[in-house]
Amino acid sequence: MRNYKIAIVGAGPAGYYAAQALQNSQNEEISISIDMFEKLPTPWGLVRSGVAPDHPKIKSVAKVFDKIASEDKFRLFANVQLGKDIDLDELKANYDAVVIAIGSSVGKKLGIPGEELIGSISSSEFVPWYNGHPDFADLEVPLDSQTAVVIGAGNVAMDVARSLGLDPAEFEKTDMATYAISALQKSKIRDVHICARRAPEHAAFTAPEIRELPHFEKTSIVIDPNHISSALKRTESLGDQAKDINTILTAMLAIAEEEKPKQERSINFHFLLTPIEIKGEKRVEEVVFKVNEVIDGKVVATDQTISIKCGLVITAIGYNTPLIDGLEIEDGKVKNINGRVANGVYVVGWAKRGPSGVIGTNKSDSTEVMQTLIADLSEAKNSSDFEAVLKQRGIKYVNQQDWGKINDAEVAAGEQLGKPRLKITSREEMLNLL
Ligand code: NAP
Repeated sequence: MRNYKIAIVGAGPAGYYAAQALQNSQNEEISISIDMFEKLPTPWGLVRSGVAPDHPKIKSVAKVFDKIASEDKFRLFANVQLGKDIDLDELKANYDAVVIAIGSSVGKKLGIPGEELIGSISSSEFVPWYNGHPDFADLEVPLDSQTAVVIGAGNVAMDVARSLGLDPAEFEKTDMATYAISALQKSKIRDVHICARRAPEHAAFTAPEIRELPHFEKTSIVIDPNHISSALKRTESLGDQAKDINTILTAMLAIAEEEKPKQERSINFHFLLTPIEIKGEKRVEEVVFKVNEVIDGKVVATDQTISIKCGLVITAIGYNTPLIDGLEIEDGKVKNINGRVANGVYVVGWAKRGPSGVIGTNKSDSTEVMQTLIADLSEAKNSSDFEAVLKQRGIKYVNQQDWGKINDAEVAAGEQLGKPRLKITSREEMLNLL
């Protein structure tokens, strides 16, 4: 029997699915102990701090993570940061393999003038803010103007637009951070404009995100039906190839053509607008866009510009993996070949393939990479227990049992308020519980 020790860095979906694949790879010849490191005191990654609070069903996958964590030879070391508390070289020395599952938490930049103005925020800050991520709890989100612009046409843009454009009552029974709910209750924002640089047929959001919009009775959904009809005409010749796109376009057309009384709040969809400048004296006052058109299936710029006056701009245009000593980043991802980074180092999830796909995508992806890892294993190192190093350094790590205490406290506090949980949003408060 060979006993291997594997370190997984990052307790998000990709990390858990990697752990599950490793657990399933054990047989009479090999046994695998897994140590999972996580920089926050809480596990679950984007399931806790990314998934929209009003989409609780998606979060039920956490039960799968708990099952994985409850298996023998699995240990959680949360509140331990790679690159700060521990480094890659020592993980490489102490484990038979290291799996990087750190996701991509750095928002991409537009690279246009005015992007640094107050009131210009990336979804990489805004989403963890409303989700109670301790590092973003103090983010200043100016909600004192009538209008917000969301740049990007993916599901994150939709999550952001709902959080700003719906009646805050929609979030009262969710696990959205309490400070975010009260900020949204006081918010003056009434009109949210989602701006896509390409046409409706190129939008990255998915059909369920569109279909749920008409159910929010207190928010008007404004889409120009001409834009959607033109898109449907352009995709006609593609036949079956455009089946998924047509489903989304048809759902959008139904919303666009439905006659409904105008509400106080609105979410407005715009297409073929490339942001070229954010203007403002001291803070965001206006976003200027180049107007595009579709010619022979290609999006090309016209010489026209338009602008939208607003006090808040949220960019939801994708993410990059953070820089970590010892890892080479290429195109916003950890440089890898099919998940192999270097001798004994592997990468899974968004850090491997970029910010794409749903949570389930990570299952097959992580499984594939773990098959490579298992095939690469040679003699077991039989190194000493790394927990001793953490103890020696005085690192206040949070283990599975500790996390259970934090989880139970949140769920119990939420229960009294009819919420799935009341999130603790400060590290100190979490650690004080233990
Ligand atoms: P995404 O789906 O890749 O969408 C990014 C959007 O940003 C695209 O519309 C893209 O336009 C636009 N964009 C990129 N660079 C831009 C620029 N410089 N200027 C203007 N627009 C720009 O990314 P995401 O919304 O961040 O989502 C990430 C992943 O998480 C996706 O796979 C998504 O489906 C998933 N997710 C799923 C859910 C859910 O299941 N409910 C919720 C949230 C996120 P182009 O297409 O023109 O590049």
